[in-house]
Amino acid sequence: MRQLRLKGQAVSPGIALGQAFILEQTAAKAVRVGIADSEVDDEIRRFHAALARSREQLQALKERMNREVGGEHSWILDAQLLMLQDNLFIGQTEGRIRTEKVNVEWALQEVQEYLDGLFKNLDDAYIAERSSDIGDVVRRVHLNLGHLPIESMTEMKEHVVLVARDLTPSQAAQIDKHRILGCAIDTASRTSHAIILARSLKIPAVIGLHDFYYKVRNNDWVLVDGTEGEVVLNPPATLIKEYLKKKQKYEDYQRELVRCAQEPSITQDGVYVVMQANVELVSDIPVAVQCGAEGIGLFRTEYLILTDEKQDPDEEKQYGVYCSILRGTSPHAAVIRTADLGGDKLMPAQVREPNPILGLRAVRLSLRQKDFFKRQLRALHRAGTVGNLRILIPMISGVAEVRQVKKLVEECKQELAEAGKAFAPKVPIGIMIETPAAVTVADLLAREVDFFSIGTNDLIQHTLAVDRDNDSVSYLYEPLHPAILRSLRDCMRAAAEAGIGVSLCGEAAAEPLFALIMLGLGLREFSMNPTFIPVIKHVVRAVRADDLRDIACEALLRPTAQEVEEFVLERLVSKFPDAVMALPGGYGGE
Ligand code: PEP
Ligand code: MG
Repeated sequence: MRQLRLKGQAVSPGIALGQAFILEQTAAKAVRVGIADSEVDDEIRRFHAALARSREQLQALKERMNREVGGEHSWILDAQLLMLQDNLFIGQTEGRIRTEKVNVEWALQEVQEYLDGLFKNLDDAYIAERSSDIGDVVRRVHLNLGHLPIESMTEMKEHVVLVARDLTPSQAAQIDKHRILGCAIDTASRTSHAIILARSLKIPAVIGLHDFYYKVRNNDWVLVDGTEGEVVLNPPATLIKEYLKKKQKYEDYQRELVRCAQEPSITQDGVYVVMQANVELVSDIPVAVQCGAEGIGLFRTEYLILTDEKQDPDEEKQYGVYCSILRGTSPHAAVIRTADLGGDKLMPAQVREPNPILGLRAVRLSLRQKDFFKRQLRALHRAGTVGNLRILIPMISGVAEVRQVKKLVEECKQELAEAGKAFAPKVPIGIMIETPAAVTVADLLAREVDFFSIGTNDLIQHTLAVDRDNDSVSYLYEPLHPAILRSLRDCMRAAAEAGIGVSLCGEAAAEPLFALIMLGLGLREFSMNPTFIPVIKHVVRAVRADDLRDIACEALLRPTAQEVEEFVLERLVSKFPDAVMALPGGYGGE
C-alpha cells in the first residue's frame, strides 16, 4: 500500500482519520454546433427548460441542507439560485444563441468565460471566489441540457475523508458532517465555500495539496491534520496511535474552549480584551454570538451589493439589512464597512484595469460614484438609530480622502434632515489602516477620524509587495515580518496619542502567536472569523499583558520573521505553557 506524507495549508483545525472518498470531477466541455435561423427559438426553449430543472434541483438541495445542516448555510445555494434568474446571465446566453447562431452549450461556455473575467477581476478574495458559483451553475445547466445525472455525494458511506481536486459550491453544500470526517483538497482557497463550510461544521481540512487527488485510491486510509496542515496516506499503525492521542487531546481542549467561549477574555493581570467577529452575512451573526463575539468588528458589505440583482441595492434595502445587523448585534457595537469594491462590476463602462489591486477600488471607487456612496451612507446613518453603529472606510491612503468622505457624510445628513427622515447624528467614522501610506501618516489621520481598524490582509500585501492570493510568493507573506510589526506599533502609537480606539480585523488576528504580540504592543480589540474567537480568548486568558509587553518590545528587535517567531515561542513556552497549548501542534506536545 502506498504511503505518503504531505504538507499543505491548515485551514480548518482538528484531526481526522478515515477511508478516502474520492470526488470524481467530470468537466463538461462544450462543442460548437451551428444552428439555422429556424432553430433559434427551439434552442432558447431548450435553455429555459434546463434552467428550470436546475432551479428545481438546487431548491431541493437547499431544502435538504436546511433539514440536515441547518439554515445558516443555505446562502451558499442562494447565490446560484439568483444566478439562474439573472438577467445578465440569461440575456447574454440568449443573445449569443441568436446572434452567433450557436448551440446553447457553446453559448453558455462563452458566457461563463465572460462572467468569470468580470468576477475574477474584483480585488477581493471572497468575492472573486464567487466565480466558482458561475462555473458550478453553468456545469449544472450544461448537464441538464443533456439529461445527464448530476453527480452527488449521497453514495458516500459514513466516516470518510473527502479527497477532491476542488469543491464546487453545490458540492460544498452537500458536505454532511455525519459522513465526512475530514477534507483533503488539492486546490481551493482559504475563502472558498468549501472551506468556510468546513470551518463552520468543524471538519478538519487541509488544502493546497497539489496532486494528492491523483495519488489516492478509494478506500485508502487518509489522516488529515487540519491544525498542522498535514495529510498522511495510509499511515502506519504507530503514527495512527500517536495521532489518536493527539486527537483526543485536541478534542478535550476544544470542549473546554467552547465551554468558556461566552466568558470575557481577561488576561491574568486583569487586562480586558474585546473579541469581535468579521461577518459578511446577516445569517452569520447568531453563529458569531455563539462563538462568544462581543459585537461585529467588520461587516463587509460587498456581498450584499454583489448579490443584488442590479449590483446596486437601493437605500431602503440597505437600510433594512443594516438595521438587521444592528439588532442582531445589540447590545454590542457593529462596525459596518462601506463597499470595498473594484473592477467593472459596478462600472460596466470602465476599461478593465491592468492592476486592479492598485486601481479604482474601495473608497476611491465610492468617491468617484458619489450617488452610490451617498445611498450607502444615508442608509447607514438611518440605521444608526436602532443600535450602536460605527462606519468604517476601506483603503484610505491619506487625509484628503478622509475629508472628502466626511464632507459627503455631512451632505447626507443634511439631505436626510430635509427629507424628514430619522438618522443618527453622530455615528463614529473610522478608517481601515491597510496601506503603507496610512501607516506613515497615521498621526495625521488619527486627528481626523474616530477609530482605526487595521486590515493586515491588505497591509501585509502592500507593505511587503506580495500578492495575498498568489501561491508562488506566499512564502513572503509574513505577518511577523519586522516591517509589519513596526508598522503596527507605529499606528497604535498614533492612535494612542490622539486618544482614538484601534482594532485589528485582518486574518492574522486569529493567529495566536501574532495576536499575543499585538497584545504586547498594546492592542485591546480584535475582530476575526468567529470560529477562532474561542481559541484566541483562551490564549488571552492564559497570559499576563505586562510580560507580553516586554516580549513584544524585544521581538521588535529581531531582524527576520523567523527569528521573531522563534524568540516569542521560546518565551511563551517558558512563561505561559497554557497559551502554547493553543498554538498549532501545541496541544499535541507531551
Ligand atoms: C484586510 O485587508 O485585512 C481586511 C480585513 O479587509 P479585506 O480582507 O476585506 O480586504
Ligand atoms: Mg482589505
